[in-house]
Amino acid sequence: MSQQITIIGGGISGLSSACYLAKEGMVVRILEKNAQLGGRMNLLEDSGFKFDMGPSWYWMPEVFEDFFKDFGKHTSDYYELIKLDPSYQIIWDNETWDIYADRDKLGNFFEKHEKGAKQALNEFLDDAKVKYEIGMKKMVHKPGRNILEFADYQTIKAGIKLDIFKSVSKLIRKKFKNPKIVQALEFPVLFLGAMPNDIPALYTLMNHADLDLGTFYPKGGMYQVSRAMEQLAIELGVEVHTNQNVKEIHFENNKATEIVTDTNTFSTDELLVSMDYHAFEQHILPPQYRTYTEKYWDQRVLAPSSFLYYLGVDKKIPNLQHHNLFFDEDLNRHAEKIYSDIGWPEKPAFYVNCTSKTDKTAAPEGKENLMILIPTPPGYHENEKKTAEILLDQVISRMEKIAGEKFRDQISVKHQMTGKDFIREYNSYKGNAYGLANVLKQTAFLKPKMTSKKVANLTYTGHLTVPGPGVPPAIISGKIAAKLITSK
Ligand SMILES: Cc1cc2nc3c(=O)[nH]c(=O)nc-3n(C[C@H](O)[C@H](O)[C@H](O)COP(=O)(O)OP(=O)(O)OC[C@H]3O[C@@H](n4cnc5c(N)ncnc54)[C@H](O)[C@@H]3O)c2cc1C
Repeated sequence: MSQQITIIGGGISGLSSACYLAKEGMVVRILEKNAQLGGRMNLLEDSGFKFDMGPSWYWMPEVFEDFFKDFGKHTSDYYELIKLDPSYQIIWDNETWDIYADRDKLGNFFEKHEKGAKQALNEFLDDAKVKYEIGMKKMVHKPGRNILEFADYQTIKAGIKLDIFKSVSKLIRKKFKNPKIVQALEFPVLFLGAMPNDIPALYTLMNHADLDLGTFYPKGGMYQVSRAMEQLAIELGVEVHTNQNVKEIHFENNKATEIVTDTNTFSTDELLVSMDYHAFEQHILPPQYRTYTEKYWDQRVLAPSSFLYYLGVDKKIPNLQHHNLFFDEDLNRHAEKIYSDIGWPEKPAFYVNCTSKTDKTAAPEGKENLMILIPTPPGYHENEKKTAEILLDQVISRMEKIAGEKFRDQISVKHQMTGKDFIREYNSYKGNAYGLANVLKQTAFLKPKMTSKKVANLTYTGHLTVPGPGVPPAIISGKIAAKLITSK
């Protein structure tokens, strides 16, 4: 008889695993706490406005394509991709830069600001491409069980080129002096949850993803991706149960045998946990079955939490693009508030996503949908809601300055999300938005393990384990976990 597997959590990693496991003939069931699948890749609709609540940058398109190809499909069977050009804009206090989707054009633009920068950019991106290829071929798809996975001759030879002991910041500053070019090139690693001087230079591979591979947008919004993965899972026979908050596990002979939710009990042969690793271990598993202690978790470096605002505006806003980075205040001071001198940023850097610039279906005609993101320290919640309101007022003023006109009185739809909401919605550890930071001591085999040391039929996936934060890594994480289970 086929094996029954239960997946707790229907986010991207859970959906990815579900598809691979069903393809291998297992009987797959997803138990998701919320009403919809997709996890953080969530959709909010209000009064004709559509908001992608979490991820908004579609990078590394080949990871998505490879996923669907594994099932004889293409992304184009499910959604239409638009390549953005400019990919995004960066707003400083005295000027705004378009970041072109064309290396040559961007190189010419950089050259105007720093002599020799075009050639330096070409050399830098050629090196980033090598890192990307080695990273994707030799490292990212490994389960990170131990260092020996990386000990074959080819991987060690390739690894020497990865500069894992140098920081991203050091590598970039060696090549470029203009502070705006430096900031523009350091931006992509902010996705990895730490500052560029704490992230190993291997991750300039993100610059290849950004500047060579490009920034895409699935028409209809990022949520099209989780819808597509859900549709594929259902086509493959996966059984989906939403509104199932898992509370308890029953065991026999060190094996998980029953999964208890608010309303049901499900029996299982194998268990895959794609919900927040910490929340499952520390709040659902009994102590004798935990691999890690609370102290271990507390010592992890988490990616930031966020204040998020979803605003429907009853007018068009000039000078905004699809993706907008507001670096018009001191980024380093903001970073200190997240990582060292913990507290609320006074003048935060922030990001604005306005998909109605590209997609007519995202907002009613003549209107804009805005998603504003301010990174905040994980685990810090003092006066959270009140501070979020104060900061929103400030960032709207800064946006109005760029737009050259007011729009605050035309905001007809407003929703807010803070760290506490991340905990409530997704059981997110310390309200983190996108998992564990990719600092050296948390890279590859140094991350929380995918295989439980204490429970024979328990495996983990998702952005608190291998390979790390982001949607493409979550897809890959799901694939690795499925392989671990089917190769048992
Ligand atoms: C604001 C924001 C912006 C981001 N921007 C980007 C971006 O632009 N590009 C990018 O690539 N990535 C981005 N990310 C990161 C990316 O969204 C995540 O890394 C990825 O979606 C994580 O997927 P996951 O499956 O690991 O976890 P999750 O999405 O958290 O899925 C876990 C699921 O488990 C469920 N669950 C929790 N507890 C239980 C329980 N007790 N019982 C049952 N189910 C439970 C949750 O409801 C959730 O659906 C962003 C994230 C956020 C929050």
